[in-house]
Amino acid sequence: MSPVRIAALPVLTAVCVSGCNLRGGILSRMQAYDYIVVGAGSAGAVVANRLSASARNKVLLLEAGRASHPWSRIPIGYAKLIANPAANWLYRSQPEPNTNGRTLPVPRGKLLGGSSAINGMAFVRGQAQDFDTWAQMGNHGWSYQDVLPFFKRMESYAGGDDEYRGRDGPIRVTNPAPRLPIFTALIEAAKQVGIPHNPDYNGAAQEGIAMSQASIAAGRRMSTARCYLDPIRRRPNLHIETEALAEALMLDGKRCTGIRYSVRGETREARAAREIIVSAGSINSPQLLELSGIGQPERLRDLGIDVRQALPGVGENLRDHYAPRTRWSVGAKGITFNERGRGLGLVGQALRYALFGDGMLGSVAAPIRAFVRSREGLEAPDVLLGWVPMLTEPGALGPKLSRECGMTCYAHPMRPESKGHIHIVSVDPRRPPAINFNFLSSPIDAEVTVRAVRIARAIMTGAAMAPMQVTELAPGALATSDDEILNWVKQVAETTYHPVGTCRMGTDRMAVVDAQLRVHGVAGLRVADASIMPTLTSGNTNAPSIMIGEKAAEMVLASVTGV
Ligand SMILES: Cc1cc2nc3c(=O)[nH]c(=O)nc-3n(C[C@H](O)[C@H](O)[C@H](O)COP(=O)(O)OP(=O)(O)OC[C@H]3O[C@@H](n4cnc5c(N)ncnc54)[C@H](O)[C@@H]3O)c2cc1C
Repeated sequence: MSPVRIAALPVLTAVCVSGCNLRGGILSRMQAYDYIVVGAGSAGAVVANRLSASARNKVLLLEAGRASHPWSRIPIGYAKLIANPAANWLYRSQPEPNTNGRTLPVPRGKLLGGSSAINGMAFVRGQAQDFDTWAQMGNHGWSYQDVLPFFKRMESYAGGDDEYRGRDGPIRVTNPAPRLPIFTALIEAAKQVGIPHNPDYNGAAQEGIAMSQASIAAGRRMSTARCYLDPIRRRPNLHIETEALAEALMLDGKRCTGIRYSVRGETREARAAREIIVSAGSINSPQLLELSGIGQPERLRDLGIDVRQALPGVGENLRDHYAPRTRWSVGAKGITFNERGRGLGLVGQALRYALFGDGMLGSVAAPIRAFVRSREGLEAPDVLLGWVPMLTEPGALGPKLSRECGMTCYAHPMRPESKGHIHIVSVDPRRPPAINFNFLSSPIDAEVTVRAVRIARAIMTGAAMAPMQVTELAPGALATSDDEILNWVKQVAETTYHPVGTCRMGTDRMAVVDAQLRVHGVAGLRVADASIMPTLTSGNTNAPSIMIGEKAAEMVLASVTGV
């Protein structure tokens, strides 16, 4: 069979196995591959890259979004994409009691690279204990020692220790933050309250304050589209189809055999001789399973969907970071992005970026972060603080710079216990599912959030910060008791965009996939993305999602070769 050239659509028809057939009055073409990957995000792009490395494997990669967006290349572009329908699914949660009835934005990348193409670019693995916990939950092969080779394989980082850090992987990781005096002051202030400076939180230990490592190099965002797909676009055995919305998995009894999807109004079908790997992310992976009859039987029947495999855990176990943003005015001149981002300051920054690829426009979203224990006696840090050297206000097209100069510090528990769920409300694949986070439903999350806010305060008001002339704006001096702080949290907190867990890996009745990421009870089908995480990792979730893609690909390939 002649190979499929990714950019040559006419040749694609050469692999039609059953010609063209009419389905519901819409032209449907049937194509045959060895593997079909649904979703070209942090995990899916990696899976497609590794599976198509052998010319023997014909791979189809389906992506609902477009090929790219100009703002996705420039680091500061995250601010332009967070509310941009051209690159973002723009989901919203349901209102909840602990969000004071607010619906929260749930941005998700909708383009090649998925959320890695719109995210804040902080590069954080999490703690060894996160993965050891997954292994202890019965997921053989997921301890930190097991996943460390995949974390090393994905990255290219110059710092840290060879034992922990990768030197020649596709994602280039750097410390790109501008050198602002306020960061030096923060590191000193943290030390004054007992938080050590730890330059490599992705190394032997996470604890401490550090400049953020970022998936940014030479002033460019290192999305999985750029690092895993761009270099292989000419592989003849990989077909990348953008603006292709997967609508349902095709099942033959208990075997997944193909996918139905639509491209600009045309319905198509593709068959996978070996496997389908769903990497549509924590919102859309459970949605696709439910649309395909895999999920909670009663819920599916209520919508008139045939139950193909009863799996009560589909869409459950939703976890995310619910983070209040404390706000501070800064009196010291010339050191926040509020000044650098307007007028002549902005001209200077634009020039700087054009010449050196750095400065405000080349910066990671939160350039400095701390991993902290919220109380004595804990084995490991349980709180994350992240600082952004500016104040913003909500604008119609996303956040805009405030006139006032200042800083924002978000603070939240890293491993929240509150769990929510995501379920479809319609058989229409275009209709967003209902997202319920149940934030703060576990009392410990509320307690740790309040402690996190107090730690932010202790650092911001430490002696080393005095030259910065900071004044607390929010929650403000009037919020002193735990209840007052918690009330404020409920009024203002939003997520840090890390939904995970909705197709949880495990061996129990509520698990959706096994430790090989195979969907329980369905042959030829895996899920590989953030949705398989049993618990939230301690920090941001891009690097762990890429690791999942790397490990999934290796498991898929090993299942054929038997290695
Ligand atoms: C605004 C924002 C900021 C963030 N900041 C950071 C950060 O600084 N650091 C960090 O580590 N993490 C960050 N994250 C989180 C991190 O980016 C995600 O956890 C990670 O990208 C998830 O990877 P994934 O593969 O599970 O899903 P995604 O990367 O979201 O990929 C899913 C892909 O599937 C596609 N898709 C979905 N449904 C379908 C369908 N039916 N048919 C075809 N294609 C489909 C989507 O369009 C998307 O491309 C952020 C996320 C967001 C949204």
